[in-house]
Amino acid sequence: MNFTVAIVGRPNVGKSRLFNRLAGKRISIVHDMPGVTRDVITRDLDDGYTLMDTGGMGLVEGMSDTPGKIVNAVEGQIDFSIDAADLVLFVVDGREGLMALDKQMAERLRRGDKRVILVVNKVDTETTAIKDKEFYRYGFGEPHLVSAEHGRGMSTLRKAVLKLR
Ligand code: GDP
Ligand code: MG
Repeated sequence: MNFTVAIVGRPNVGKSRLFNRLAGKRISIVHDMPGVTRDVITRDLDDGYTLMDTGGMGLVEGMSDTPGKIVNAVEGQIDFSIDAADLVLFVVDGREGLMALDKQMAERLRRGDKRVILVVNKVDTETTAIKDKEFYRYGFGEPHLVSAEHGRGMSTLRKAVLKLR
């Protein structure tokens, strides 16, 4: 069984963008509508591990489908991904700051036994103001500040993943 890395986080933090960056190909659907990636997408990378993208967590407002069903499906994906993972990339939005769903996810990961790398995304430039530095206290170690959109911080993140592989 390949070393498996799961990307998790609430909707719209940039998980699918990050997946595509790390996978080096446009595979995971990225859409401006939060929660659009509902299926677990996996890819075996040349780096020698399997990467998983998940849909997001919790209730997504403004969805046309039955919200309860989506929530259950997405939560199922997250459980499945975390169970299958050797390492979790927990993604938060550095510009928006922390929301209740981020804190729930942090709690869930803290209770579990998986190794976690905290990824603070949307830090597009060196001067991007990071809202809410509370995640430094999550206990997941030094967060990785990245921009999945622009590729910032990707080589350092890749190295950190490979080191734990
Ligand atoms: P997901 O729901 O967590 O999979 O998030 P997506 O990857 O679909 O991205 C959600 C939105 O955030 C999209 O509009 C992306 O263009 C945007 N986004 C993702 N990463 C970044 C980033 O590093 N910087 C900025 N400025 N926007 C980003
Ligand atoms: Mg997505």
